[in-house]
Amino acid sequence: MNQGRSLSDIQKSLRNGQQTISELVESYLKRIEETTDLNIYIEVYKEEAKALAASLDQKIQKGESLGPLFGAVISIKDVLCYKDHKVSAASKMLAGFTSQFTGTAIQRLLDADAIIIGRTNCDEFAMGSTNENSAYGPTLNGLDSERVPGGSSGAAAVSVERDTCLIGIGSDTGGSVRQPAAFCGIYGFKPSYGRISRYGLIAYGSSFDQIGVLAKGIEDISRVLNIMSGEDPMDATSLNMDPPEIVKHPVDQQYKIAYIPEVLDHPGLNPDIRKGTMSFIEGLRDRNHECTPISFELLPYLVPAYYVLTTAEASSNLSRYDGIRYGHQAKDFEQLEDLYERSRSEGFGAEVKRRIMMGTFVLSVGYFDAYFTKAQQVRTLIIDRMKEIFAEYDFLIMPTTTDIAWKRGEMSGDPVSMYLSDIYTVLANLGGYPAISIPQQNEQLILPFGVQIMSDLYDERKLLSLCLSL
Ligand code: GLN
Repeated sequence: MNQGRSLSDIQKSLRNGQQTISELVESYLKRIEETTDLNIYIEVYKEEAKALAASLDQKIQKGESLGPLFGAVISIKDVLCYKDHKVSAASKMLAGFTSQFTGTAIQRLLDADAIIIGRTNCDEFAMGSTNENSAYGPTLNGLDSERVPGGSSGAAAVSVERDTCLIGIGSDTGGSVRQPAAFCGIYGFKPSYGRISRYGLIAYGSSFDQIGVLAKGIEDISRVLNIMSGEDPMDATSLNMDPPEIVKHPVDQQYKIAYIPEVLDHPGLNPDIRKGTMSFIEGLRDRNHECTPISFELLPYLVPAYYVLTTAEASSNLSRYDGIRYGHQAKDFEQLEDLYERSRSEGFGAEVKRRIMMGTFVLSVGYFDAYFTKAQQVRTLIIDRMKEIFAEYDFLIMPTTTDIAWKRGEMSGDPVSMYLSDIYTVLANLGGYPAISIPQQNEQLILPFGVQIMSDLYDERKLLSLCLSL
């Protein structure tokens, strides 16, 4: 019933009485019930969503004005704080923890009359690429349940792909919105760093984290972005800039688009994704965009720099989970240090522990300069090169992932392969650039893949209008 409908279509049918918001919510709740085997939601806010729908229906009946997102039914990843609702980052560490406040982005959605239908599963503390690192068990790919949906916002992608909601809100530190979008055949969008306040987003790597949007249409992404964006006194890194205007119509403009041949010739890239990306680039040329090969000699350093810096930030961010102030506390302990140790050992999963150890190591006195300082220098070089690229080109294009969705279990036990697969997505976060994964399908591949387009900082509107024209 809701398949393929944009928010504008939905709002039209609500305004002219073809459907009520209550009926709309019921239809999503039915989809949620039909898809429980995929393990998408950790919690569904059934009664609350119904009650809010009923009150919005009354407003429509009375002819009262509604917020710009009325009729938008949204899932939120389990890393976003929503007052009086549980939030756990899919970790045993935060089991039973209830948010004491609502994060700014979520509050802005609520103020715009969106309905939040539930919280979605994810990789623990947003660390992972398969949604298999969750205390709640894995989420399965809705297109093929033998495969993973990607991660860490895997369930957010499935929630949209399976039509259990219109929009999924996720977080993207190194690709966690774009990669699952590519694996599930939908759009995944990460804005510029600072565009959306991080207040109320459980931190992983604070200088990389951004809230992102998963959806089936560009206009919907643009509308939700417009609402969530804007300066926030609660987040000093939030941008003092007007939210990007909503894109409704494609702009007929010729752009200069760069691509990197080393990316397409990378030995780890599935040859059919290579072909698919090449024909996407041909399609851009047919539309009179200028597509130019450029060099990017820093390619081998992206993943190492990303993992040194994000694990360092994570080890610091996650030190607050000490078994005293938050969540899980060990039952048997002898003295204070023992309490910390046991609570953290019991509360965190294997991947989170691995990253805390790696981060602590790269920050340790003896290795700080060799790893952390070096990675920061590399980050600066990467940003300098990106500045050069965007001084000359409007967009940079590449595949989102090296492969289609993996079989379940294929990546477990091989964290390094999993890290290496992030090669195309981490660039946007290292520099804070906006980036989108566009769903693609071709005959050779049994599942969809994604083409990623990146733009210069704060050019979200231009990026989304290009996507609308494709
Ligand atoms: N796969 C990446 C990681 O595990 C990205 C995670 C994310 O963006 N949250 O770090």
